[in-house]
Amino acid sequence: MAFSRVPLSRAPLCRHSYLSSLLPFSFSHLTLSLLPNRTRLNNLSASLSTQEPAPSIDSSSANPKQSNRWKPMCLYFTQGKCTMMNDPIHLEKFNHNCSGELKVSSPTVKQTRSQQLDFFLVLDLEGKVEILEFPVLMLDAKTMDVVDMFHRFVRPSAMSEQRINEYIEGKYGKIGVDRVWHDTAIPFEEVIQQFEAWMVQHDLLGKELNGRLSRAAFVTCGNWDLKTKVPQQCEVSRMVLPPYFMEWINLKDIYLNFYKRRATGMITMMKELQIPLVGSHHLGIDDTKNIARVLQHMLADGALLKITARRNPGNPENVEFFFRNRIR
Ligand SMILES: [Zn+2]
Repeated sequence: MAFSRVPLSRAPLCRHSYLSSLLPFSFSHLTLSLLPNRTRLNNLSASLSTQEPAPSIDSSSANPKQSNRWKPMCLYFTQGKCTMMNDPIHLEKFNHNCSGELKVSSPTVKQTRSQQLDFFLVLDLEGKVEILEFPVLMLDAKTMDVVDMFHRFVRPSAMSEQRINEYIEGKYGKIGVDRVWHDTAIPFEEVIQQFEAWMVQHDLLGKELNGRLSRAAFVTCGNWDLKTKVPQQCEVSRMVLPPYFMEWINLKDIYLNFYKRRATGMITMMKELQIPLVGSHHLGIDDTKNIARVLQHMLADGALLKITARRNPGNPENVEFFFRNRIR
């Protein structure tokens, strides 16, 4: 299901475009100070693409001439690094607003049940050997709107340059985003520092909770992301597993217990719920949006999202699962 994304041009990086163009929040010096000071950013290419619009759940996509038709995200923008916000051709080709395509109609919102959490953090990591991409979509549990997005490409820390190049070519070359990956990827420790600053901005980390999430929970498709991959990467990157990664919601468990049907993965859930796949499968940010679409559909159907797995604080190796019926 991969579409081609082909980098076509280069542009010098101008950092203010990041801050002025990003998101409707007052981004503070905190984030600014965490921006990596990397000279290689002077040679960023714009993430241009030859990709044709794909089917979308948004009815406005029926007319491809409309400017709000589906288009690929600018993957510099998602990481706060787009320098072409003043270029109309670039803006026409690439999406710079992640909330539009995940908009849910208000009659749908009215029929949802109330949730125990205020926000869902949909997370879908990419990278089997080491994490290569860390995308998070923050959804409001009541309105189902996208509140914000955090997206970073991640540079492996225990791999040779040659291995990294082969790895990226094989994974992202196919969908034409290898160039933007090389231009923007930063080590996992830096990603986590920036992610924490982002969570603080959104008031998601409760001080009284010792770094655990307040009012929000991660939503993943399966247990792999937080049970296996993040702890592995923390070990490779010589970090302690942050407390906010100690519990999560596995959407597949909620799906099984709500619809009484097993779903082996995102594609199965999307097929069964008749949600069209949008974007490039295995591009983390696109998969995250597709999982968010499944989540929105389930919320609209009346599902209650609850924590499905939690690590034992005294013995973090031990994960307790809360549903008897679950996907193993
Ligand atoms: Zn852009």
